[in-house]
Amino acid sequence: MQLTERYRSVNERIAASCIAAGRSVSDVELVVVTKNHSAEVVAELYDLGHRHFGENRDQEAGPKAEALAAGGRLDAKWHFVGQLQSNKVRTVLNYATCIHSIDRSSLVKELAKQLGNRELEIEGFIELNLTEDPARGGVEPGNLQQLAQSVLEIGRIKLLGVMAVAGLGVDPRIDFEKTLRASQELQKIAPEANQLSMGMSEDFELAIEMGATHIRVGSAITGPRPNNT
Ligand SMILES: *Cc1c(COP(=O)(O)O)cnc(C)c1O
Repeated sequence: MQLTERYRSVNERIAASCIAAGRSVSDVELVVVTKNHSAEVVAELYDLGHRHFGENRDQEAGPKAEALAAGGRLDAKWHFVGQLQSNKVRTVLNYATCIHSIDRSSLVKELAKQLGNRELEIEGFIELNLTEDPARGGVEPGNLQQLAQSVLEIGRIKLLGVMAVAGLGVDPRIDFEKTLRASQELQKIAPEANQLSMGMSEDFELAIEMGATHIRVGSAITGPRPNNT
C-alpha cells in the first residue's frame, strides 16, 4: 500500500470509530507522527490536505519544518511528542506550537523562560508515566496536579490535558483507563484541560472509543520507520 492509500484508510477507520462511539470526527485531531521519515513524506501528506504533524527529536524536526516552509507549505502545525530536553526548548519553539510531553518542573521553567523571550503562546499536554519505570518520560499520576499548577502559573501555555503512551505488552484499555482517571484529577484544578492525547497505530480505535481528542499515528500511515530510534 502507498502513503495516500494508508492515509485514506486510517482516516476511514477514524471516521468509523467516531461513528461507533457516537462522536463527531471533528472532535478527534489526527497528528501524523513523521519521525524517521523525510520531509518529502511530510510534503506529500501536506499536499493531501494534512496539516498536523508530530516529531520527537529536535535535530530532525527543525530541518523538516524548515524544508516544508521553504517549499511554500506554510501552515503545517508541528506537535512535539517526544521527551524534550531543556536545552532544546529554544529551538523547538521555532516551529512547534503544541508540546505533548511536558513532564517535569525543570522543563516547565525553561518553557517559561523561552516563552518570556518572545510573544508566543503554545498549547501543551502533560505527559503521564503509566509504567513503574521512572526513567520513562512522563510525570507520576500522583504529581500531576502539582506540575499542572506550575504550567497554569506561566499563563503562556494553554494546557489542553494529559498525554499518555500505552505500555508495551499491557492491555491498552487499562492504561487508557488510568489516563482517564488522571484527566479527572487534572480537571479538578483546570476544568478546561479536558483533552486526551492517546492512541497510536496499534490502538487508536480503542483510544477514540475511550474519548481521545488527539491521536498520534505514525507507522499505520507512513509505513515502517527506516531506522527506528
Ligand atoms: C512514534 C510515536 C508515535 C507513533 O507511533 P506508531 O506506533 O508508529 O503509530 C506516537 N506517539 C509517540 C510519543 C511516539 O514517539
